[in-house]
Amino acid sequence: MPIDHRLSEEYEELRATVAEFARDVIAPKIGQFYEQEEFPYEIVREMGRMGLFGLPFPEEYGGMGGDYFALCLVLEELARVDSSVAITLEAGVSLGAMPVFRFGTEEQKREWLPRLCSGEMLGAFGLTEPDCGSDAGGTRTTARLDEAAGEWVINGTKSFITNSGTDITGLVTVTAVTGRTDEGRPLISSIIVPSGTPGFTVSKKYSKVGWNASDTRELSFTDCRVPAANLLGEKGRGYAQFLRILDEGRIAIAALATGLAQGCVDESVEYARTREAFGRPIGANQAIQFKLADMEMRAHTSRLAWRDAASRLVHGEPFKKEAALAKLYSSEIAVTNAREATQVHGGYGFMNEYPVARMWRDAKILEIGEGTSEVQRMLIARELGLVG
Ligand SMILES: Cc1cc2nc3c(=O)[nH]c(=O)nc-3n(C[C@H](O)[C@H](O)[C@H](O)COP(=O)(O)OP(=O)(O)OC[C@H]3O[C@@H](n4cnc5c(N)ncnc54)[C@H](O)[C@@H]3O)c2cc1C
Repeated sequence: MPIDHRLSEEYEELRATVAEFARDVIAPKIGQFYEQEEFPYEIVREMGRMGLFGLPFPEEYGGMGGDYFALCLVLEELARVDSSVAITLEAGVSLGAMPVFRFGTEEQKREWLPRLCSGEMLGAFGLTEPDCGSDAGGTRTTARLDEAAGEWVINGTKSFITNSGTDITGLVTVTAVTGRTDEGRPLISSIIVPSGTPGFTVSKKYSKVGWNASDTRELSFTDCRVPAANLLGEKGRGYAQFLRILDEGRIAIAALATGLAQGCVDESVEYARTREAFGRPIGANQAIQFKLADMEMRAHTSRLAWRDAASRLVHGEPFKKEAALAKLYSSEIAVTNAREATQVHGGYGFMNEYPVARMWRDAKILEIGEGTSEVQRMLIARELGLVG
């Protein structure tokens, strides 16, 4: 058999369990959290109890012993119903816990991972700043080592940081300039800053277009001191570390975008069957049928793209190009499917009580977060050998 399209029994069981949870627990409640722009603690707690925050981590650190593919499967099923909870999980695992797992010392892993895996604590990753996002090498936040005190002294601001200001946020890993090369280029390092550290201020929530039941904040650091031992990985390797984290994260966002695109199909097929105009269901019109067929085609292709990239990742093969392809394609088709789903729903599609309205508002950020579409095209072109 050259390639197997089927999920193994274990993955399929996980997928089905999470699909049921999304349908029975998240779907009935999330609209209200979204409207009130509230973080859904009770749902997140339940996701923690299900082990979702520990999915790709070994059991010795409190994880489920699964892999990144399993995480992506779960993200797709969650986003099929709601993207706020999906991004909370994505950021908590892929940006919050994964840097600690990949680059942390044994002591750091033992200190942080069990609580991050159980979902009782959320982690965040602070890379973006007011003056630099795509060009993360332009980081202005600095960390100076006060050798006498054995502490890093951090100064700077981070923008748009997911999961950084909830009641259960325990840490944010920030990138900061910790030195310069002989040619004057910045050396960037990653440092763990526990919530509540003096000098670390979390601003109030942004007012966002979408992802309204997720937590996004600006963070500022003013002479914020943390122990020297909070350095994550090697000094000066922070840039390389976050590139790795973002490469993986793109697959997770692609899976999440696929879920949103599929959710648009689910909602629209159901609506097209039941909504009548001119004396028959709107779904009896070929114009609507073709729209739905195209939406299904996009969601299906997008799924193949993220599964291909995730499969390469878990098999230890190069996956950079495939991750960028999947992220680029899935985020763009998620926007298209959300626009079409709203169209199929007519005026009701513009009403917030309809899930497709939420999906429309949630789709756009997928073309921006964890690398914009332009950045994905740059990466793909580079993989094709084009430079300059
Ligand atoms: C809701 C939300 C949650 C987020 N969560 C996090 C988080 O948890 N942690 C974190 O660190 N960040 C987070 N971000 C930040 C996000 O990753 C950045 O917004 C994104 O990477 C883009 O950076 P920027 O906003 O600075 O845009 P810019 O980099 O200023 O880009 C502006 C525009 O210029 C384009 N552009 C830039 N350079 C080029 C070029 N060379 N060629 C062509 N076009 C170019 C971009 O593609 C974009 O269209 C989040 C953002 C949002 C909105």
